[in-house]
Amino acid sequence: SLADRLQSVFKKIRGHGRLDEKSVQEGLREVRLALLEADVNFKVVKDFVDRVRDRAMGQDVLGSLTPGQQVVKIVHDEMVELLGGEHLGLQLQGKTPAIIMLVGLQGSGKTTTAAKLALHLRRMKRSPYLVPADVYRPAAIDQLHTLAGQLGVPAFASTPEMKPVDICMQAREEAVRKGLDVLLVDTAGRLHIDELLMEELVAIKAAAGPQEILFVADAMTGQDAVNVAVKFDELLDLTGIVLTKMEGDARGGAALSIKSVTGKPIKFVGMGEKVSDLEVFHPDRVASRILGMGDILSLIEKAQGSIDQAEAEELQKKMQKAEFNLDDFRTQMRRLRKLGSLEGMLKLIPGMGDLRKQMGEMKMPEKEMSRMEAIINSMTPAERKSPKLMNASRKMRVAKGSGVKVQDVNVLLRNFEQMQKMMKKVMTAGPGALKAPTSP
Ligand code: GDP
Ligand code: MG
Repeated sequence: SLADRLQSVFKKIRGHGRLDEKSVQEGLREVRLALLEADVNFKVVKDFVDRVRDRAMGQDVLGSLTPGQQVVKIVHDEMVELLGGEHLGLQLQGKTPAIIMLVGLQGSGKTTTAAKLALHLRRMKRSPYLVPADVYRPAAIDQLHTLAGQLGVPAFASTPEMKPVDICMQAREEAVRKGLDVLLVDTAGRLHIDELLMEELVAIKAAAGPQEILFVADAMTGQDAVNVAVKFDELLDLTGIVLTKMEGDARGGAALSIKSVTGKPIKFVGMGEKVSDLEVFHPDRVASRILGMGDILSLIEKAQGSIDQAEAEELQKKMQKAEFNLDDFRTQMRRLRKLGSLEGMLKLIPGMGDLRKQMGEMKMPEKEMSRMEAIINSMTPAERKSPKLMNASRKMRVAKGSGVKVQDVNVLLRNFEQMQKMMKKVMTAGPGALKAPTSP
């Protein structure tokens, strides 16, 4: 898959301590091939690779990222841009009821998406009205009515004898009477682009004045979906795109091309046949998914924000000199909490699933961390510096002060001792080991 290919490229790039022009060029050649194989538009691929190259070559290395990580970050950032940058939601301002028109080829998923959007809108406290305007196949009207029934969302009683434009006009009046505020118009599709159908869609647009015209595209059709989108956009000036069947498109080709080719944002993705299988489209999340990176970038950003480089170096020195004490232990714990739990942090790192299983024993739940911090807080600075001072009466005092049992104080001290030992081991493995949790 695209994710697998890119990951192997990244693995190679990451392996380089220093990044020279040659290794970047080699890596980018493979990125280019992987994207082309994923059926991403040729021109899109070329521009993409050019931008990544320019940025990778022209940039200072960020302190806390290795050059390899930096390239991964650039590829990710550019991919987010390619996918549209910021997420853009439905724009339903203006006349009430608002109108959303769904257009696209037959089988692309318009009817299903209409029902999914009804559910989405209801969750947003809107009152949707499903409007079947595909009069060429009587089954299409039934299909939408069935879905509406399942959802408990009202649907307009279209009949095959009505003209689509009349359906829209009457449905709008009906919506006003019923106090419904968003019309979801499910239009007909053909197997191929068809003049007559296009004329009909243009007529519906002119009569209804929809706020949103969403092109529904089957992601699995790759570049075909992109080419058809361009044609629909020329005639209808689309406001957005819904990519369906995304759960089956590991290649991600349509998603990566369609925004930059049409200039129109992807607003939703269909991830299955069920009415609940609709996701709001977030370029950053999808980029991570395509890159198969977990949420690696958010991890890197989090780590950048919460780990001060100087502080880390200070700590490292202390560890080397075996001066690491309970004060430092507490600092580390707070840092971990800032990153979310240790488990949450590991979850963000790709390939860490196995390690997480092995770490079952070491898991430190939030509650546990709070208790440990409370115990340390109840100690005197001298005790924190030299935990060996902790005799029976001191333990008793600290237990009372922090509201725990003496046993708990013992557990903490034992854990700390173990951690000290572990750190010594880590330190002999080299100074880079401290930063290990943030490296992919
Ligand atoms: P229309 O002709 O454009 O109205 O397409 P339909 O809504 O009837 O969908 C065609 C087929 O695609 C149906 O079998 C749907 O269940 C299926 N479908 C629609 N969206 C998705 C999706 O996101 N994932 C999957 N797996 N199937 C989908
Ligand atoms: Mg349909």
